[in-house]
Parts: sequence; structure tokens; C-alpha cells
Amino acid sequence: MRIMRAIKMNIEQIKETITIVKDYPIKGIVFKDITTLLENPEAFKSTVDIMVDKVKHLDFNRVVGVESRGFFWSGPIAYALSKSFVLARKPGKLPRKAAEKFFSLEYGTNTVHIHEDAISKGDKVLVVDDLIATGGTAMATAELCQELGASEVHIIALIDLPKLGGSKKLADKFGEVITLLDY
Ligand code: AMP
Repeated sequence: MRIMRAIKMNIEQIKETITIVKDYPIKGIVFKDITTLLENPEAFKSTVDIMVDKVKHLDFNRVVGVESRGFFWSGPIAYALSKSFVLARKPGKLPRKAAEKFFSLEYGTNTVHIHEDAISKGDKVLVVDDLIATGGTAMATAELCQELGASEVHIIALIDLPKLGGSKKLADKFGEVITLLDY
């Protein structure tokens, strides 16, 4: 009989599974490619487990996942903690009436959409993304949640680029801002 054992990775081991791609999608950007983390089952499971552990003490009833790389973490967190799972999507993706917010990215601009009835007055939300760079994406998503009635907003992302100051800006304005690893 074979003994199957899940290997638990620590955050340094997880970091080694992320691939750094220079000058993608445009010159000057050092892209953190998490597809190689996702392809590694121990790394994926360990990352989700650590994220769940870091947020389980917080008071929130909805998990808001940011399209698209935020979905990999937000779905498993909502599932693990039995929370409502809300999608923050790019334009043209949501079928019903949605509220929207425009924002700037480290490269380019974008708009985030959330179904108007997905967040109710007094909700406490956890916004989930893969990476905080300038913080613009998380800021727009968190503000949109507040505009829809959220009374408390916490944020978690796998990666922080602290030199760009995004996580600090978010921490000044919202509840807890949690990140697992820095570049
Ligand atoms: P920002 O709004 O500037 O905080 O940018 C965060 C969003 O852009 C996240 O959803 C990331 O997926 C993506 N992003 C920004 N910079 C990078 C980077 N250097 N590597 C990978 N993804 C990035």
C-alpha cells in the first residue's frame, strides 16, 4: 500500500515556484508569473492554506475575488470558510445590472464591475487578488464595495510590491491589508 502525504510548503518554498518574467507585458515591468505556482499542487494547496489561516480571524461575510488572477485564491478561501463568493469582473462579463469603477494600473487602465445586488448595506468583505502593485485595482474594488454598502473592507493578496506603496495606501484607508510575500 502506498502512503500519500501532502507536502506542506512554507512561504519561501512557495516563492521559489513563482517565475519572474522581465519586460512583460511591456518593457520595464518585472512580471510575477504565478502559473508555475498553480501548476505545483503542493505550492497551490499550501498557498491557499496559508491565506485561509491568515484571514480566518477576520469578521467578514463576503469574499470578493478580483478577475482574473484573484479568482484562483478567492474561490478556495470562500469555500474553505463557507462565505459568500462575489466576482469583481472586467467590463462586459457580468450579465445583470452592475456598478462600476474606473482606475489606473501599473501598466494601462481598467474598470471593475460588481453586480449591484451582490453586496448589501452593512456587509463586511474580504477583497482578494494575486498582487498589489500601485494598489489601484484593490483600491477601486474596495471603494466599489463601500459604494454598494459594505461597512468594512479587508484585503488579502499573495504578493506585495512594497516599493510601489500600494499596500501602505490601502492600509491607511481600509481594514486589514494582508500579503504573504514581497518583491
Ligand atoms: P495594481 O492595481 O497596480 O496594484 O496592480 C495589481 C494588478 O495588476 C494585479 O491584479 C496583478 O495581477 C497585476 N500586476 C501588476 N503588476 C504586476 C506584476 N509586476 N506582475 C504580475 N502582475 C502584476
